[in-house]
Amino acid sequence: MQKKAISYLRFSHEGQSNSSIERQELITSQWAERMNVEITDTFADAGHSAKTFDRPDFQKLQDFIKQHHRSVDYLIVDQMDRFSRDAGEALSMIKKLQSKYSIQVVSATEGITFDYHTPGSFFRAGLQFLLAEEDNINRASKINAGIYTAKAKEGRYIYGHAPFGYKFEGQGKSRHLVINEEQAKVVTYIFNAYLTNTPDYIIRERAAHMGLKHKGNSVVKDFLTNPIYAGHQVVKPYKDLPGGIFPALHKGIVDMETWSMIQQRLKGGGMERVIIDDNLPLRGVLKCHCQKPLTGAPSRGRHGKYYLYYKCRHKGHNNISATKAHEQLHEILKYMSLPQRLVAAIKDQSEKMLQERMKDNRANLSRSKRDMEELEQQLYSVEEKYIKNQMAAETYHRWLKDLTRRRVEVKSRIERFSKNGDSTWKLLSDHLSKLTDLQYVYNQADTLKKQELIRLGFDNELYYEDKTYRTPFVLPIFEHNLLT
Ligand SMILES: [Zn+2]
Repeated sequence: MQKKAISYLRFSHEGQSNSSIERQELITSQWAERMNVEITDTFADAGHSAKTFDRPDFQKLQDFIKQHHRSVDYLIVDQMDRFSRDAGEALSMIKKLQSKYSIQVVSATEGITFDYHTPGSFFRAGLQFLLAEEDNINRASKINAGIYTAKAKEGRYIYGHAPFGYKFEGQGKSRHLVINEEQAKVVTYIFNAYLTNTPDYIIRERAAHMGLKHKGNSVVKDFLTNPIYAGHQVVKPYKDLPGGIFPALHKGIVDMETWSMIQQRLKGGGMERVIIDDNLPLRGVLKCHCQKPLTGAPSRGRHGKYYLYYKCRHKGHNNISATKAHEQLHEILKYMSLPQRLVAAIKDQSEKMLQERMKDNRANLSRSKRDMEELEQQLYSVEEKYIKNQMAAETYHRWLKDLTRRRVEVKSRIERFSKNGDSTWKLLSDHLSKLTDLQYVYNQADTLKKQELIRLGFDNELYYEDKTYRTPFVLPIFEHNLLT
């Protein structure tokens, strides 16, 4: 009786042409003709990688074998690694087919009929598979080396889709990311909104309104943590070369310092930084009767509208409407306005205070600048050592990370000390004649200056209790108004 076979054909790599399948069909049918075996069915598996058996057509093949194994003697493939690139997995499949269903696997190209009971044949099958597997490992290794070079050394963006906020320009190796201005507006909004403590769901709502299609609860965090937006990218380590965040060729939408700072904040540690929100100028300045600075945030009212509130972290303490608090402050400022004859006095007094503070700031500033120079020197020498191969990649990377973090800290210190005193000084000297009208001064000032004014005027002790402001301290020159 003529023996019967089924053949199994497969694209060996994705995107391979049909001629490969035709060739496999030819080879397997030639073997069948030569051996006088009838092929009763053919299974073709297209477009899946040979890594595992978890493929739809292989599943169909197995179902077929389960049902019809009594009328099948051989399973023909053109080459052994059609089965799987995992040698062990393929061998156990061959073993199973033979022991359970009495079906022998044939490799038509190699002219081998695998017989699990004949050690020589089985050994050869093993060898075939191991060779295929090694080929696979080599290919993966070459690809990984290429990815590492392209990303870490050349700074190229190698993926098929441009990230939101960017588009591709150029072709082939010169293809690169450029900023997509429309989308970049959304990205900028997300970063700024986060920095001003906008609640996550509001950021998502507005970003969607601006045209962001990405959905999901983590979408804001996904944007904030992606170094692509700071002109960098994540590179996986390759062999003994370090992985990490590497500079890329494309321009960032936010700067690296801001990005690093945000990562620290997301981790919940690192630098304390007062977040400035123009709608909540008293946040961080106005304190609860328990001495804690009040926080400020929007909350949803009965009709779905958002209202701004200042509140204490402690339950049952202050929770006051920002609008009301601002109105009350205006009243106070009106009473605190000065008669002309006292302008000279306040000028004197504030000048002294400011000079003190600016002296401090100047000292801090030059100290910070020295720190920065030192850090840069260190960074330079670490890089030099690494380039001259006097330092291991891992050590270099640890240093780099540490120095970068410290630079971010020092830089934000420099920023703080270079503006603080100057802007307050400018405010005072610009508006000195207007000091008779403190309300006016307050309204003219931007949020940072408003806060400075409140801190100065009440010496950091402006409290809220029982629906009103309280302070144990007012600059003495204001007292005349409050007493009358
Ligand atoms: Zn409190």
